[in-house]
Amino acid sequence: MPHDTPLISMIVIGLVLAFIFGAIANRLKLSPLVGYLLAGVAVGPATPGFNADMELAQQLAEIGVILLMFGVGLHFSLRELLSVKAIAIPGALVQIAVATAMGAGLGWLMGWPPAGMLVFGLALSVASTVVLLRALQERRILDTTRGHIAVGWLIVEDLAMVLALVLLPPIGSLLGTADGGASMSLQEIATTLGLTLGKVAAFVAIMLIVGRRVIPRLLDIMAASGSRELFRLAVLAIALGVAWGAATLFGVSFALGAFFAGMVLSESELSQDAAAETLPLRDAFAVLFFVSVGMLFDPSIIVREPLPLLATVLIIVFGKSFAAYGIVRLFGHSNATALTISASLAQIGEFSFILAALGGQLGFLPDTGRDLILAGAILSILFNPFAFTLLDVVRKRMEPAAGTSAAPISPGEAIADTELANHAIVVGYGRVGRLVAETLRKTAKPFLVIEDSDVLAKEARAKGDEVFLGNAVQDGILDSAGIARASSLFLAIPNCFEAAHIGDRARELNPGIIIVGRAHSDAEVQHLADHGITDVIMGEREIAQGMLDIVGTHEAEKKAGEPRPDEPGSAEPTASVNEEPEPREATGAPDQAPPVSAA
Ligand code: AMP
Repeated sequence: MPHDTPLISMIVIGLVLAFIFGAIANRLKLSPLVGYLLAGVAVGPATPGFNADMELAQQLAEIGVILLMFGVGLHFSLRELLSVKAIAIPGALVQIAVATAMGAGLGWLMGWPPAGMLVFGLALSVASTVVLLRALQERRILDTTRGHIAVGWLIVEDLAMVLALVLLPPIGSLLGTADGGASMSLQEIATTLGLTLGKVAAFVAIMLIVGRRVIPRLLDIMAASGSRELFRLAVLAIALGVAWGAATLFGVSFALGAFFAGMVLSESELSQDAAAETLPLRDAFAVLFFVSVGMLFDPSIIVREPLPLLATVLIIVFGKSFAAYGIVRLFGHSNATALTISASLAQIGEFSFILAALGGQLGFLPDTGRDLILAGAILSILFNPFAFTLLDVVRKRMEPAAGTSAAPISPGEAIADTELANHAIVVGYGRVGRLVAETLRKTAKPFLVIEDSDVLAKEARAKGDEVFLGNAVQDGILDSAGIARASSLFLAIPNCFEAAHIGDRARELNPGIIIVGRAHSDAEVQHLADHGITDVIMGEREIAQGMLDIVGTHEAEKKAGEPRPDEPGSAEPTASVNEEPEPREATGAPDQAPPVSAA
């Protein structure tokens, strides 16, 4: 292997090992995150063999953070951000204070200097953006009220960290640490604080006033150019450019810069396209983030400092969570919201590493402190998927009436099992599902909808439909929707892997149910057929058929209008996209009623 290509080695070995370990973890029914982290340990300095460049790994991970936060911003409007400020600001600040106090207490027991206690406490108080967002995305709760509160909370933590990083050197020296930064008076500290806040405010103001006009316009121009490539490039240039500019010119974190870039773009009609463009890159870099965390882990800490390590993990996983739970409940939010926020925050990550590194450089934090933070991060990230599983168990116990893991549409509202029988279940209330529902409504066929997005779920509910908000893949949701008694299942969702999974579960509970699937390619049709879903509508084929039918009809009409001495009234038969036309049960045309089995 050439030795002068550390960047290529890092990306290639990081991704390949993450893939192998992630696939093994998946096979063992563990979260792939576990595999990514172990891949990092394998290429890290603590284990023999290839050692990847840590500095590079962390920079690559930062690109993952930028793209993730950009994606989140794209789903967020300023109004949504402001709507959660009442809980996010006090919530995050109190939780940071409580967690810092707990961490500092442990530092005190370890006999560290006051500045070291502070750094350690702060490092335990901030959650990782990547871990939190991935957890919310995986559970599809990013677009719910709970998800919005969690993101608002994250942004306040992010801002607090920007301030902490700037203020740490002078405050540390005030607290009197041997080789800490140059001594500063209180007045100088106040000036530094004012300057930092001023720069953040200037960045936000520029984004909201200038960025909001210029950035969506730029994207529109690129879209109008008709070049997919330039559009893609424009999206990446905006996300990375604004993040980098925010960090270098305004001292704002990359993540916050990217979030604002996304948010100003969210008002553009093209924002969904923009989000789709960054997805593959975002996922690849997010994986490198976990690899880079794994690299920092030194397993010997488990033997060297078992008790302090246990205390550190307990503070991160339980101490922080209890504090967050209490605060959210105090603000009158539902149990479900409080539990989700607590589970989301029960981990630490990138900010903690930056704080640990800075604390070490300034001579505040002893090496043991840094090792505890790194080990605490990897262990709490490993534990995070289980925290969410635990959350479901606790929630079911606390809300036995809910009977389903579907999230309520408004906080505190429980969804009971359906009483319908011989009904249809429509999964997805998007472009396809709403048309199906419309016809079912007209034909008075009893049905219910399972929809993942709270906005669309509310829309269906406004029409008087019975709606389960949640992902149909989740355990329990199909049971609550009365799948065993249902007569038909419309899988009106675009993801065929999810559809196949839902179909399998439905068949298991109700072997006789009629299932109709939706696909975009022959491979998807095949995948669904492999899972016993043989009635599948392939959208593209239906569109092609519809186009041919229209042209055929017009041509026939034209011919019918022309004088034809030989065969009056004959028309060419319309062409078919299939050589052997398959029996089709429904067409995608909105004005045509899908022939519902029981309609
Ligand atoms: P469309 O592609 O416009 O028909 O939209 C599909 C809809 O299905 C979207 O509104 C999604 O939120 C929803 N959806 C996708 N997957 C699931 C799922 N597994 N469970 C429930 N709803 C889903």
